[in-house]
Order: sequence, then C-alpha cells, then structure tokens
Amino acid sequence: MITAHLPSGYILGRGAQRYGVHPWLMPAAILGAVLPDFDLIWFYFVDNRAFHHHLYWVHMPAFWLPVAVATLMVLRRWRPRYLPPARTFFVAIFMHIVLDTIAGSIAWQWPINSELFQLVTVEPTHDHFILSFLFHWTFSLELAIWALALYLFAKAKF
Ligand SMILES: [Zn+2]
Repeated sequence: MITAHLPSGYILGRGAQRYGVHPWLMPAAILGAVLPDFDLIWFYFVDNRAFHHHLYWVHMPAFWLPVAVATLMVLRRWRPRYLPPARTFFVAIFMHIVLDTIAGSIAWQWPINSELFQLVTVEPTHDHFILSFLFHWTFSLELAIWALALYLFAKAKF
C-alpha cells in the first residue's frame, strides 16, 4: 500500500469513536496507521536501500504482537483509561501490516524465516515501480479507502 495508510487510519479512528469517547482515539489510529512506514527514513538515509524496508522490525507482526500484549496488560492493570487509544493504536499497526500484505510483502513467519509474503504480485510493467503500482488493479483499493475517508470526513465537517 502506497498512499492509503493515512486515510485508513482516519477510517479506523472514526470507527473507534463510535465505541468510545477519548481524545486520543483519532491520533492513536492515524499514528498507528502510518508509523511502520517511518522505517523508510532509515531505509533511504541510513541503510541506503540495502534491505527491503518491510524487513525492519516496524513491519514485523512478531515484533508487534508481544509489544501489544504486554502494553495492553500493563495499561489494563495500572492505567485503564489509556486502554482505548492503546487498543486503537495496535489495531492500526496490524491494519497497516495487513494492507501492506496485499501487494507489498510482509514477513509473517519471522523469526522462523524471513520470507516475504504477499497476496498479489505487482509486475514491473513500467519504468518506475510507483507507476507499476499506480496502474495495477490493487490501486483501486487505495482509491476506495481514500473515497471512504473523504466521505466520512466531509460528513463530519459539513
Ligand atoms: Zn508499510
């Protein structure tokens, strides 16, 4: 997924707000939805594109699962009022990883092995990989996510 993580976070935030009122629900949803791609900074500026950026820990389900379970257990015991935004944040993280699995690739089996798994392979039909993604049918999913997010946003504002 290239462009639709931000609007997917907004949609999740709107959904979370239907089940509870907490000022951090929307920020948690949006932050969680985009946070794994912060590894691109490292990918481009530190490692000089040496590894697939989905091999960084922020795109690893096996990293986030224990972090999510531990964090939610601690909050449940000592800071229960932060549970709703924390839950929303971790759902957003896993939503990002699932959306990346469609046409990107995710190491779902790590640490057993580092094989990257994807549902659909986008063939390099154009010179630049971004163009190949833009003209692939899976990009219509991104457009649908944008459309739903813009609809929800407009409905809330006007
Ligand atoms: Zn990603």
